Amino acid sequence: MAAALRLEQAGIPYLLLEAQARLGGRIFSQPVAADAGFGVDLGPTWFWPHQQRMRRLCAELGCKAFEQHVAGDVLYQQSSTQPVQRSQAGQGMLSYRIEGGTQSLIAALAARLDPARLQRSCPITKITHDDEGWTISATAADGSAPRQFRAQHLVLAAPPRKLLDIAGLSPCLPAGLPAALAATPTWMAAQAKFVAVYPAPFWRQDGLSGQAFSRVGPMVEIHDASATTDTGFALFGFIGVPAGVRSQHAAEVLQDACLRQLVSVFGAQAATPDVSYLKDWAQDAWIVSEQDIGESPRHPELDLSRWLPQLRRLQLHLVGSEVAPEEGGYLEGALGSVEAFRRSPGLFSRD
Ligand SMILES: Cc1cc2nc3c(=O)[nH]c(=O)nc-3n(C[C@H](O)[C@H](O)[C@H](O)COP(=O)(O)OP(=O)(O)OC[C@H]3O[C@@H](n4cnc5c(N)ncnc54)[C@H](O)[C@@H]3O)c2cc1C
Repeated sequence: MAAALRLEQAGIPYLLLEAQARLGGRIFSQPVAADAGFGVDLGPTWFWPHQQRMRRLCAELGCKAFEQHVAGDVLYQQSSTQPVQRSQAGQGMLSYRIEGGTQSLIAALAARLDPARLQRSCPITKITHDDEGWTISATAADGSAPRQFRAQHLVLAAPPRKLLDIAGLSPCLPAGLPAALAATPTWMAAQAKFVAVYPAPFWRQDGLSGQAFSRVGPMVEIHDASATTDTGFALFGFIGVPAGVRSQHAAEVLQDACLRQLVSVFGAQAATPDVSYLKDWAQDAWIVSEQDIGESPRHPELDLSRWLPQLRRLQLHLVGSEVAPEEGGYLEGALGSVEAFRRSPGLFSRD
């Protein structure tokens, strides 16, 4: 969507084809019904002080960033038989969140794009290339007739491994690139997050930051996920149970286990959230690939430079966090890839 914004701003005609009905991909904030403007992040939450592209995009889009709440003591859950240990407040690492949830960025981006150029529920199923350019076929799951689009330039923004599911694309790519795409992990694709929303920040009232680390699980790391103002309070955790094990249990079983863990770590008040959410990214077919589920997490590093001359001849562009020149896997990396796209000759400039 950031790439589409740059095309829109440059007056270059484009069409954005998104497989899902929802925009944002891994960016996904659940709006909390009772509090307008309070969204809890089930995908990315933070950016960090050195990530200037994120800072600049927030400023450009009018999205407000605020500091992650870290004031207060940190808890450590070493084992299920020992009491939880409390460590005095340290200097937590500075990180930023976006008001309303990271999805605010997506809403602001969408508001700047021409709605007629945004095609949702439009999964690309086939791509071919000939002397005239690119032919893109999209087949919706609802059984409606496949649609075909022609383009001179093609910008691919899906996770690299998902690109390989598109019929016809691999033979169009330069030699060696399909194997490199297959070897590039989709960052956080096999992860799952749990969020519990509370009427009051009882942990803060006890002098706790909301930060907890656990060797017991199911969550291995817990953080405060409250809104910046007093509009909403929440805790969220990264689930450490492997995707293969999660898939064998109903979501409710995992949610119950997360809630019981919050009680064992933060006390009885954690038992009754207003609402809770679980997002298992390993079950999101438009993000995760089979290989992502089996592997240990590692940052993607895909250097496209050796294929750039051929990609330029094909008028083919790759963007997204997995093809980032730096900060691969992060939102910042995805924006870096868009900057590289903008600098590529032949589209934004005619040289
Ligand atoms: C749980 C979790 C926590 C994270 N935390 C952080 C964090 O705190 N900070 C941070 O910087 N990063 C974090 N990340 C990583 C961050 O979310 C990603 O770097 C970023 O969102 C990737 O953006 P992208 O546009 O490259 O890809 P995506 O967001 O994956 O977008 C790809 C899009 O392609 C679409 N698509 C796929 N196949 C097709 C097809 N055939 N046709 C049409 N469309 C298709 C998908 O539906 C999707 O919308 C986290 C990720 C997760 C899952």
